[in-house]
Amino acid sequence: MRKPLVMGNWKLNGSKEMAKALVSGLKQNLAGVKGCDVSIAPPVMYLDEVNGLLAGSNIVLGAQNVDTALSGAFTGDISATMLKEMGAKYIIIGHSERRTYHKESDEFIAKKFAVLKEAGLTPVLCIGETEAENEAGQTQAVCARQIDAVLNTQGAAAFNGAVIAYEPVWAIGTGKSATPAQAQAVHKFIRDHIAKKDESVAKQVIIQYGGSVNDANAAELFTQPDIDGALVGGASLKADAFAVIVKAA
Ligand code: PEP
Repeated sequence: MRKPLVMGNWKLNGSKEMAKALVSGLKQNLAGVKGCDVSIAPPVMYLDEVNGLLAGSNIVLGAQNVDTALSGAFTGDISATMLKEMGAKYIIIGHSERRTYHKESDEFIAKKFAVLKEAGLTPVLCIGETEAENEAGQTQAVCARQIDAVLNTQGAAAFNGAVIAYEPVWAIGTGKSATPAQAQAVHKFIRDHIAKKDESVAKQVIIQYGGSVNDANAAELFTQPDIDGALVGGASLKADAFAVIVKAA
């Protein structure tokens, strides 16, 4: 049995004050929730602050990005060991916003995956096709290519204890979620793709859906057998909506 993970990606939003209010609301709304792992990824500037605020709660700290190097002359970068020291566990990599705006390649993202595993952190590997790729019938090919960058260099075992987030780019921040059936078909494809290398790894790997998940559509998405929770952007900035999503999982 896989335990779902619902993770909030705050992106470039927040302030100390906002973090305090949001975490307080989440703690109130989510106290006692057991059937679902919960994580929030604030901007890196607030990791320490939020880690302190989360003390004694069932919400785990996450982060939105990591560099491939552990130290050295890499101005502006943040290492896996620094994230670990700050208390973060789930680290988002390969988000479409980083693939698009920072031109991150599959190979570079695979290196981040390896660095996180090495540090004992949990990679949350985002994959997904653009609208044009979707319309051209390339969804499976794109997802396979993005997974293969890890699978073919680190083996299927690298996905033990890791998380994949299927996030169709056309659904992120658009209000246009994939339907439960559309998402399920891709999630099943992803699981089957990993199963070709290692069935037991495929069975246990958490595959989240991400893309305009909200308090109104989450429950239906979670009825699908291969959808193991969600990576949530916009709705993770509202304690009430995020709590509804977690409870639906
Ligand atoms: C995301 O940023 O990963 C995301 C899915 O955003 P949203 O929920 O706002 O679509």
